[in-house]
Amino acid sequence: MKRSRSLVAANWKMNGSRTVNEAWLKQFNAHKNTLACDVVVCAPHVYLHQLRNALSADEIGAQDVSQHQPGAYTGDTAAEMLKDTGCGWVIVGHSERRQGHGETDGTVAAKAERALEAGLRPIVCIGETLQQREAEQTHAVLSSQLSAVLERIGVQGLARGALAYEPVWAIGTGRTATPEQAQEVHAALRAQIGQADRVRILYGGSVKPGNAAELFAQPDIDGGLIGGASLVAADFVAICAAVPK
Ligand code: PEP
Repeated sequence: MKRSRSLVAANWKMNGSRTVNEAWLKQFNAHKNTLACDVVVCAPHVYLHQLRNALSADEIGAQDVSQHQPGAYTGDTAAEMLKDTGCGWVIVGHSERRQGHGETDGTVAAKAERALEAGLRPIVCIGETLQQREAEQTHAVLSSQLSAVLERIGVQGLARGALAYEPVWAIGTGRTATPEQAQEVHAALRAQIGQADRVRILYGGSVKPGNAAELFAQPDIDGGLIGGASLVAADFVAICAAVPK
């Protein structure tokens, strides 16, 4: 028996077109009522309006947000703007932003805080690289990534959103953490958070219809953040359906 309803989030990354999205949403909505989990679809900013025609705000997420208040930040999007577009959630600290855009633990924590201030629920991503795992630094790395966020938004803030454990070596690589590896990390993260039952901890990294059930069956895994496999609506539905009832 899980603590609370599981959450499965799609991260479309920089993919989609109006035509492709429309077909995806139609297919997804045809199955949505059969699912036993909460669902969020995180799309590129330019398509958030389109999602609003097919999904509720609780089901729509962005993939990034500025850490700044609205103002002179060309190209950035403020948390208030995402909220205004009809968005309920936002991913912060995805490894593709930490690695490709130089986001630090401090930036990620500031983004999570801005999201909450604007009434958005942050999905905060943390994860270790392969090099860090091989050097047995996994727990130290995750602990400091998590601490930076907890210091800024507290357990209460994190509980408004979710924490996503995404080992960097498993993202988009086809290499998934074993259910035991993922469970071990999730249990340690839950222990660090302290108020164990308040925060949903998602697993992300090459989750597919074929491996989702085993991962989601782990006692400390409360759902998933799904990248590549979320691009095919039928696969995403199958992953959501793998959540234990
Ligand atoms: C992600 O982008 O958050 C992710 C987990 O990607 P993938 O499922 O493709 O590994």
